[in-house]
Amino acid sequence: MRHIKKEQEPKEFKQLKKLDKDANFATLKNDKNANFAVKFALAKETGFVCCYCMQEIKNDSNHIVVQIEHFKPKDKNKFPELQLEYSNLLACCFGNQDGENQHCGAKKENEELKYIPNSKLLKAKDFNLKIKYSYTSGKISSSDKDIDNELNEILGLNEQNLKNKRKGKWKEISKKLVEASGRQKDWNKSKKAINLAEKLIERYNKKRRGENTQGKQVYKHYPFYDFVVYSLKKRFKNELLNK
Ligand SMILES: [Zn+2]
Repeated sequence: MRHIKKEQEPKEFKQLKKLDKDANFATLKNDKNANFAVKFALAKETGFVCCYCMQEIKNDSNHIVVQIEHFKPKDKNKFPELQLEYSNLLACCFGNQDGENQHCGAKKENEELKYIPNSKLLKAKDFNLKIKYSYTSGKISSSDKDIDNELNEILGLNEQNLKNKRKGKWKEISKKLVEASGRQKDWNKSKKAINLAEKLIERYNKKRRGENTQGKQVYKHYPFYDFVVYSLKKRFKNELLNK
């Protein structure tokens, strides 16, 4: 999970709220233009990855496959007044909503995150979730007990499929590194592998060009980029320091 820099709300959304003082979330969903504008703006903020699990938010020339997540739940007993508050909205995956093991917004539902902060309340420099990953198990954790509990119990970020996807990503990356080393046993000591690791860290910290949607240019982060960067730095900790 990474800090999300919230931008201005799109003008279509502002307009909708101005024209209909009683607008609610259903109003937004029924307004094709405003709904697209909000989805696009939110996906742009995260670099087209889910705000929690960092899976890709897919798009084609017409659609963005994204769920609008309410950081503070919009339920009538929670924060209905924030249902159209742009700073409360985030781009989220569907979280396996029809399956057995849900995660992200689909699992969180009406629960509140108290320790994983809303980025709006904090400056980027304070946004430290003490997130750790294991590249062998694909597990996400935090050295802060309360944050760790929310990662698991509220967001379900160690759901088996998610862990497998992270593990698979590391398998793909480490295969490239082993090959770069000429398949030597201590591949992380190989100069070529170390150089490649550095290049990959740089690449995964950047966005790349994706397919346009409704004529708008899309820039995407790589799915699970946070996990990949963390894992490379961990695997090459001593080698990158000694360079
Ligand atoms: Zn997700």
